[in-house]
Amino acid sequence: MLHTPAYAAKAAKAPIEPYEIIRREPGAHDVLIDILYCGICHSDIHQARDEWGGSIFPMVPGHEIVGTVVRTGGHVTKWKVGDTVGVGCFIDSCRECEACREGEEQFCEEGMSVTYNGYERDGKTPTYGGYSTRITVNEDYVLRIPSGMPLERVAPLLCAGITTYSPLKHFGVKPGDEVAILGLGGLGHMGVKIAKAMGARVTVLSHSPGKRDDALALGADDFVVTSNENSFRENEKRFNFILDTVSAMHDYNACLGLLKRDGTMVLVGIPEPVPLSAAPLVMQRRHLSGSLIGGIRETQEMLDFCAEHGVLSDVEVIPVQKVNEAYERVLKSDVRYRFVIDIASLKETHP
Ligand code: NAP
Ligand code: ZN
Ligand code: ZN
Repeated sequence: MLHTPAYAAKAAKAPIEPYEIIRREPGAHDVLIDILYCGICHSDIHQARDEWGGSIFPMVPGHEIVGTVVRTGGHVTKWKVGDTVGVGCFIDSCRECEACREGEEQFCEEGMSVTYNGYERDGKTPTYGGYSTRITVNEDYVLRIPSGMPLERVAPLLCAGITTYSPLKHFGVKPGDEVAILGLGGLGHMGVKIAKAMGARVTVLSHSPGKRDDALALGADDFVVTSNENSFRENEKRFNFILDTVSAMHDYNACLGLLKRDGTMVLVGIPEPVPLSAAPLVMQRRHLSGSLIGGIRETQEMLDFCAEHGVLSDVEVIPVQKVNEAYERVLKSDVRYRFVIDIASLKETHP
């Protein structure tokens, strides 16, 4: 029984406030991780506010976790005390279904155990995320952080990084492709950097005209304002691939019109429901798909890719006491481009 300081939402739409959780002592195959940084993903807000339904309270959000291994179970072979590691969006899965065997644990047929707002494999022990000082995780669901990377800028890779890397890779984006990243937030800015590192020509589609300079500084080749209706006519049939990271309702049909014949749009943003017409798909044989984070093997591959290409998140580091303010700013698209909680601030307030 490890009494652990945390921050939690006690009910839907309640502010995130101090709370204490119990972490288990590491079992034979577990590691205990001291958390250093945790990113704030828009999914934390959707879930803390119960926008997807079925939220479990009290909820300790956070699935972009970076920290240090401080204790290992007797049979742990992959990690040793002092290793710098990450934990992403899930902490276990059935390990036996076809998806798990193929390294796509996020699609586990029995359901992955998500890092928070879910349950351990026993189906009844709630999981708590990274707005806390430590976490106990099975060694197979831990990621290695390549050495030399600034850790506060690595934390967002554990969700925003893999969520954009996975579809860009899976759908075969290649050098010279015209790629659009729709929405320049936490996911979007990682999408720009990763698609550029893959050699694509990248355009940011944004409803915030003020983000133009940032988009170009992040590496984008072009910037198009979606709140200007002419943009859709001027950029019709332009892109091979669109990655839609937008967290709020928007015009999916108009966006599909920006794809070339046989082009693909992948949804990673999750506002519900999505209103769709058949015509933009039918008329140019366009493809519409979705994508969910990535498996453990692919997440490690993404971290190594980012280390090799110098890809990091642009972050604003905050103390945990500012988390509610940060949520409000994320909702106003006022984040450049990921808030990351310095967990030292949580340790200080809970001696
Ligand atoms: P974020 O940082 O808030 O970015 C979302 C961006 O969407 C904003 O920066 C803004 O970009 C755009 N946007 C916001 N409101 C809009 C509106 N009313 N109309 C048009 N555009 C709007 O959020 P995030 O953390 O990147 O997450 C984005 C979405 O992905 C969320 O729904 C989240 O739950 C989901 N997500 C999915 C997965 C997955 O595995 N599929 C993983 C993580 C997160 P501009 O200002 O540039 O327009
Ligand atoms: Zn996330
Ligand atoms: Zn499985």
